[in-house]
Amino acid sequence: MLVHDLNEKAKAASDVWDYFQKITDENNILKSNKCRLCNTTFAASCATTTLRHHLQKKHTITYTSNISNNQTKLTSYRFKPYTKSEQSHITTNLVDWITVNLQPFKIVEQVEFKKLVHSLDPRYIIPCRRTIKDNVIIRFTDSKKNIFTYLNSFTSKIALTTDIWTCSITSQSYLGIIIHFITNL
Ligand SMILES: [Zn+2]
Repeated sequence: MLVHDLNEKAKAASDVWDYFQKITDENNILKSNKCRLCNTTFAASCATTTLRHHLQKKHTITYTSNISNNQTKLTSYRFKPYTKSEQSHITTNLVDWITVNLQPFKIVEQVEFKKLVHSLDPRYIIPCRRTIKDNVIIRFTDSKKNIFTYLNSFTSKIALTTDIWTCSITSQSYLGIIIHFITNL
């Protein structure tokens, strides 16, 4: 069981908000509280005790008051959600893995995959497949731009070879383009 040290009551109440995001409407009125670890939403009227109970039950984060200060820092560090840039750094690596290994976007919603990631790093919040798809499209656009720039930088002639084939299972067609060129004359 994971341990999160909180000595004072006041501190305990505020630390719950490290794990929950307040969702407001256009008039800035609090609508609900969303768990940063699993995206579960709770009514705005929900007491912090309920939210804390969710953390304890769902994410095995326990509050105790009798461990040393050094341990407090360590456990707080481990279970505080990542900052936006830390989170996006891991997502970039996840997108790399998905694209290079031709994994389906829905892999991020698969229970065993979620369990694996959570056991490796409980602080990382796995994005939904729509976010993964958006990231892949951004990566595709960037890569296309880089390839254009690279091709434009050639001083030698290039040889293009194409190959087209159809997947017998999905009936989808693929066009492969191979470029041969000399970099150093
Ligand atoms: Zn949760």
